[in-house]
Amino acid sequence: MIKPAAHTSTLAIACDGLDKAYGPVAAVRAVNLQVEPGRFLALLGPSGCGKTTVLRLIAGFERPDRGSIALNGKSVATAEHCVPAEKRRVGMVFQEYALFPHVNVNDNIAFGLKSGPGRETRIREILELVGLEEVRDRMPQELSGGQQQRVALARALAPNPSVILLDEPFSNLDASLRNRVRQEIRRILRAADVTALFVTHDQEEALSLADEVAVMMDGQILQCDSPERLYRRPSSHRVATFLGDANFLPGTAHGQTVECALGTLPLHDRHEGPVELMIRPEDVLLEPNPDGPAEVVDRTYFGHDQLLRLRVNGEIELKARSVGCCRGLHPGTRAQLKIDLPVMAYPAKSNAG
Ligand code: ATP
Repeated sequence: MIKPAAHTSTLAIACDGLDKAYGPVAAVRAVNLQVEPGRFLALLGPSGCGKTTVLRLIAGFERPDRGSIALNGKSVATAEHCVPAEKRRVGMVFQEYALFPHVNVNDNIAFGLKSGPGRETRIREILELVGLEEVRDRMPQELSGGQQQRVALARALAPNPSVILLDEPFSNLDASLRNRVRQEIRRILRAADVTALFVTHDQEEALSLADEVAVMMDGQILQCDSPERLYRRPSSHRVATFLGDANFLPGTAHGQTVECALGTLPLHDRHEGPVELMIRPEDVLLEPNPDGPAEVVDRTYFGHDQLLRLRVNGEIELKARSVGCCRGLHPGTRAQLKIDLPVMAYPAKSNAG
């Protein structure tokens, strides 16, 4: 689902029908994107889908071939006119932080600030916001990865931008640090009350951090929604698969219900005729029962949960995820299964975005 272009005057970021090609490569195609002030949007997609190009268009490092960009209601780019990057009030945090290696934390943050009486106060405010008062005199190479990340964010926030753009901001951090730094960055951005757009290829990162997630593939935005809605109600087979594990099976819809190999199930939306159903593995509830229609074929144990491969009525294959201990669901066990949430349906045999 692509949202229609809306009230550009009230939006912090409004991209309307953006196209950008590099020679024969259509990097960005008809991209519409709206971010309300103070919101945190993730642009999520696989490598090469055009995420960085969207960021660069908004920042002003690239000019669109078609379409327009407005920031806080002011047009900053069309194919004909382009406000230079330094006049857009956009802060940028790069993947590799791009800190100046020969100056200390203080001077990295001071970089974008005009000299004058307010400068020292602003540096102090920002250092406090990001919690780096104590390392103010250190050089970048004397900091941990998480601290460097915060200096990069502090430098971007210091000139009080209206919008912050972050390009894969957590990919340089090791796994143990990443979650803590993500939460910290989110807290800082909330406290700064700034609009932020970050690019990631990591589904978990997008779903856990952002207010809204835009899924991008092949240069296009396929769906932009809240994390919950995107995961629960993906608009296509492709989006569903990209966001996590999913079962797909055929069915015949009659309005708000569907007949399928698992019985009659409720649907999220009304459909008629042949459909393809999408059921998340965690929505398949299992109870060991020797007379049940499902047989556990295989079990992968992850500690916090387990993924079970089932054969139902001796024919269809289904994945089920269950939290906690195995509850007797070993390979060979038979079980009763229940799906008690409405399921998504797509036009039959449609694998297109
Ligand atoms: P990644 O996650 O790998 O950084 P991405 O989703 O950010 O990828 P982009 O960097 O926006 O994708 O690239 C989109 C497409 O445009 C790719 O096919 C890429 O090769 C191409 N592209 C990007 N920049 C240029 C350029 N300056 N010249 C030519 N092609 C480019």
